[in-house]
Amino acid sequence: MRVPGGACVTAPSPVIRDPGQRAVFCGLTGIVWLHRKIEDAFFLVVGSRTCAHLIQSAAGVMIFAEPRFATAILEERDLAGMADAQEEIDRVVARLIERRPDIRLLFLVGSCPSEVIKLDLAKAAERLSRAHAGRTRVLSWSGSGIETTFTQGEDACLASLVPELPAPLAGASPDLLVVGALADVVEDQFARLFDQLGIPARFLPSRRAALETPVGANTRVLLAQPFLSDTLTALERRGARHIPAPFPLGAEGTTAWIRAAARAFGIASEVVDGAIELPRARAHKALARQRTRIGGQRVAFFPDSQLEPSLARFLKEELNAQIVEIGTPYCDRRILGPELQRLDGLPIHEGNDVNRQLDRVRAARPDLTVCGLGLANPLEAEGLSTKWAIELVFSPIQGFEQAGDLAELFARPLARRDRLAV
Ligand code: SF4
Repeated sequence: MRVPGGACVTAPSPVIRDPGQRAVFCGLTGIVWLHRKIEDAFFLVVGSRTCAHLIQSAAGVMIFAEPRFATAILEERDLAGMADAQEEIDRVVARLIERRPDIRLLFLVGSCPSEVIKLDLAKAAERLSRAHAGRTRVLSWSGSGIETTFTQGEDACLASLVPELPAPLAGASPDLLVVGALADVVEDQFARLFDQLGIPARFLPSRRAALETPVGANTRVLLAQPFLSDTLTALERRGARHIPAPFPLGAEGTTAWIRAAARAFGIASEVVDGAIELPRARAHKALARQRTRIGGQRVAFFPDSQLEPSLARFLKEELNAQIVEIGTPYCDRRILGPELQRLDGLPIHEGNDVNRQLDRVRAARPDLTVCGLGLANPLEAEGLSTKWAIELVFSPIQGFEQAGDLAELFARPLARRDRLAV
């Protein structure tokens, strides 16, 4: 059987639930890429010294100008001290807005410590939005490690934006909303392609004025990232309709993604073929170079970013890699259904228990293991080559022009292993 986009499919991959302890970063990590993407927003983490350290060390190195994130540290306090905590947040926010009048959108980001969990940040955001009306809008979301894994911070952030977005004008014609933070260079390439196809496209989050993106029944949602379950639900509540598609990773993933959008807008397939012919050919050429290195290599994924099923599909379908195991923290079939159809029935382990998976990976000894930073060093010490999952989230990997770079990210540790083995 063939799916639109050309790939052969078998029955969709089964999802095996394997709950247990995971080893991943919390949702605060999303601030690292979101603060660079939404240029007029500021992220104020309400948290502990641990949260401040995480944000400083993960994001601080990337800052060259005045930062657009900070941590308001709440020291231990009892319930009686919570009123003071609210006043403290009001004071910190007032000082910040005074000093940084360019902040249009301020996110209060919750975290794990019990003092923070007791605070009602949604109420604080409402109060502060009223206090700074006309100047800065204040929203809240949680990046707590109890509630979120590292890419879910972006989901929580975008979901908090959706109810604030304006409704479209009455009778507005259908338009496309591409949802999920993309590197600017990738966003620009996709914007040009959709423009060429005659599809009116907007992006969420946008670089500026994220709160000015209209959404309603005329909106067709094309996800650019697979970890946006809550955001999709919030958009559907506003009447928007989802376009299910594989994700734009590799030549074929990107082709299927563009085709799905084009079908939703009634664009003839010959028009799509003409628009993507050259970039698709460039992507295939770049991938052919990497196929000799990656083809036949055995790859395992630990659950980390929720990109795992899409990356496994890319490696298997476009580079002939053998997939040993696909772990992913969550698998939302609404979103990942088209990917599950292209995985030849390979099972997805959802919420993998880290100890049980470590046993399986040690026994299978794959050529490459994609995992979090905490697991990479011990596995390298045991002679297994690893790839940091977080690098695949920070790097521009979507689209035709990035297909070769994406393959290169997997090829590099294999080349290093081969050099060390000589
Ligand atoms: S939110 Fe929780 S898991 Fe994340 S840095 Fe703060 S304390 Fe640690």
